[in-house]
Amino acid sequence: MEHIVIIGNGISGVTAARHIRKLSDKKITIVSAETDYFFSRTALMYVYMGHMKFEHTQPYEDWFWKKNRINLKKGYVKHIETKSKTLHFTEGDTLEYDTLVIATGSKPNKFGWPGQDLDGVMGMYHKQDLDNLEKYAPNNKICKRAVIVGGGLIGIELAEMLHSRHIPVTFLVRETSFWDGVLPEGESAMINREIINNGIDLRLSNNLKEIVSDENGKVKSVIIQETGEEIACDVVGLTAGVSPNIDFIKDSGIETGRGVKVNRFLETNLPDIYAIGDCAEQHEAIDQRRPIEAVWYTGRMMGETLAQTICGNRIEYKPGHWFNSAKFIDIEYQTYGWVWAQPKDNEARFYWEHKDGNKCIHINYDKNTHEFIGINNFGIRMRHEFFDKILTEKRSVHYVLEHLADANFDPEFYKLHEKDIVSKFNQENSTNIQLKKKSWKRIFA
Ligand SMILES: Cc1cc2nc3c(=O)[nH]c(=O)nc-3n(C[C@H](O)[C@H](O)[C@H](O)COP(=O)(O)OP(=O)(O)OC[C@H]3O[C@@H](n4cnc5c(N)ncnc54)[C@H](O)[C@@H]3O)c2cc1C
Repeated sequence: MEHIVIIGNGISGVTAARHIRKLSDKKITIVSAETDYFFSRTALMYVYMGHMKFEHTQPYEDWFWKKNRINLKKGYVKHIETKSKTLHFTEGDTLEYDTLVIATGSKPNKFGWPGQDLDGVMGMYHKQDLDNLEKYAPNNKICKRAVIVGGGLIGIELAEMLHSRHIPVTFLVRETSFWDGVLPEGESAMINREIINNGIDLRLSNNLKEIVSDENGKVKSVIIQETGEEIACDVVGLTAGVSPNIDFIKDSGIETGRGVKVNRFLETNLPDIYAIGDCAEQHEAIDQRRPIEAVWYTGRMMGETLAQTICGNRIEYKPGHWFNSAKFIDIEYQTYGWVWAQPKDNEARFYWEHKDGNKCIHINYDKNTHEFIGINNFGIRMRHEFFDKILTEKRSVHYVLEHLADANFDPEFYKLHEKDIVSKFNQENSTNIQLKKKSWKRIFA
């Protein structure tokens, strides 16, 4: 019987396994060095914040795997021998496969900073990072200050986590404004304010020079590149982005770039070897998407797609329109379509911000055809289905504004702003767009 081996028990590997099982009787083994069972990585922060126990991040009961005949093997693969189709583990044992799926995810970036491997220095990615955080930052008596290096989605999550235990945080952000490579100026400034208003010591345009050790090999301070200032701390969180976790693959003959190179069918350069999730790098970007996308839902989609291919129905990976969501401390963020940090030549923007400074929408559209290109929502929720349909139908910005009531996720609350948004657009563009009444049923029936 064909043996499918999947390296990685994250969302992409586990989705592939579940769907292969639905479609076939093939023998399936999932390998992981991290944890015995699949857990939701995106929920790790809530464990530290006391909202849930680690067990609650595991969506499947422990018996699920045996019942579905999915073998689980704990171990770290140190080498893939592709000629003999054999995996070699650090413990010295081996495992043979007929078909191999590489789903090894990401690892936090380290840029060779002095002191980056000291005790008390950690990323915020793996379960082990959470364990380390519990060890070195259980409370504000043991951890008097933490320094976070790198402003992005994971950095701000870590800041919120530490803050929830009243641990003072210094947040070093290389950019002049938070995540300004991705967020336009208004949104980025809003998040700077949110960070500062939460009592976090935000240091923009500040780079880490060095992490200093105490006499026991534990971090005692960091030194800032620009000013030479030394900041005493007990924990350093390295959150300067992630990259594909593929170092062990480099000498196997499998083509790699930043990630494992795959085509639209998630096939590598070698037969019977595939890559999915954060570690996969598309040869050519799909639409305007990045060749590597470290996002939960795309991992799941790749797992589902690949299961079809492995079970005989070879299909292309088609992620559809870009969307993403996150939370910046108390401000919810959703993006549908494309709103770049800077508009492109053919693009026009409409920005509306509520007077309280913690809600905004930012619409990007084609300045000649008025076709809607994308929207950022901060502190306001709008429906994914609505914008997915709008993007597919190539509707205009005017259409979007007229139908804001249909986009609205939370009518009771959000209704208050629709008129205000449309009237600002009309003023700025000398238009006379009229809000239509909610027609959810008609549009989506
Ligand atoms: C704190 C945090 C919050 C996040 N929040 C969001 C969010 O809100 N929304 C969103 O879309 N995305 C979010 N992400 C990103 C999302 O979690 C990832 O995109 C997703 O988990 C990647 O899934 P994956 O299956 O590709 O890999 P992973 O989940 O990384 O799983 C890969 C597994 O492979 C194992 N492995 C690697 N190498 C080997 C080896 N050689 N041998 C054995 N095992 C190996 C790893 O240990 C790991 O268990 C977040 C990530 C983090 C860290």
